[in-house]
Amino acid sequence: MDKSVRICFGILGVLLAPLLSGCIGTDGLANSATNRGIPGGLTLACLDDSVYTSMVVEVDYHPGYRPETTSTDLLLERLDSVCDKPQGITIQLTETSFTNDEIWTADDVRDVGWEEKSHDPRDKSVLYWQVIFPAGVYEDSSVLGVAVDASTVAMFKDSIDDAENIFRRPSAEKIENSVLVHEFGHLLGLVNIVYTSPADHEDSEHPGHSNNEDSVMYWAIESTSISNFFSNELPTEFDLDDKQDLIGLADGSIECTDQLWRP
Ligand SMILES: [Zn+2]
Repeated sequence: MDKSVRICFGILGVLLAPLLSGCIGTDGLANSATNRGIPGGLTLACLDDSVYTSMVVEVDYHPGYRPETTSTDLLLERLDSVCDKPQGITIQLTETSFTNDEIWTADDVRDVGWEEKSHDPRDKSVLYWQVIFPAGVYEDSSVLGVAVDASTVAMFKDSIDDAENIFRRPSAEKIENSVLVHEFGHLLGLVNIVYTSPADHEDSEHPGHSNNEDSVMYWAIESTSISNFFSNELPTEFDLDDKQDLIGLADGSIECTDQLWRP
């Protein structure tokens, strides 16, 4: 977490450029031009069932970089617990040979992700969120995963494997489990990305992240230094404040900004 990723939220045409550490890479101008949104830009599409009644998580993985089944199972369970999708949430796994196997920028993730998307993120009644599992590392090599726009996440398995300590506590598999849920938490707008929580649970040192080490949105989850903070059990769940935020966004009691779609 020694480097920062410059992110720019386009709000009312004014370019704001706060510095966010780590795993949220967005670019407001480029995104508004292509309507890809910012992480959290499809939060209401996930929390509401009036149009998007089902959801598909598209997983595009480089040969040899298929996610652990425990990771995708856990992600489905967590999304099911917060999103309103009466027709269900499913995983769609596709092996894809990415040409880049070295260093990835947020732009690379966005561009390659969109080239590989099987559907528009909003296709008839289906909401599609995507994660790519490429070979190689993020430009900030301390980052294990990144959410780059409203529907696109990347997971860096090479860095996740490196983050495992010699005692395998926590193991690379457990780290992958938590990081995957963490990145999709950003697609849900957590923490304070597209809203302001009534609870004081955003880490002031790490914007967009929880200050509770029992939340999967805790800032260190995304970092290669993860095993310095957790000696065995990692959080895998959204905490009460995270869940209360999502309930408030769903029922309209918390204002939600930067949405690509509203009920
Ligand atoms: Zn994060």
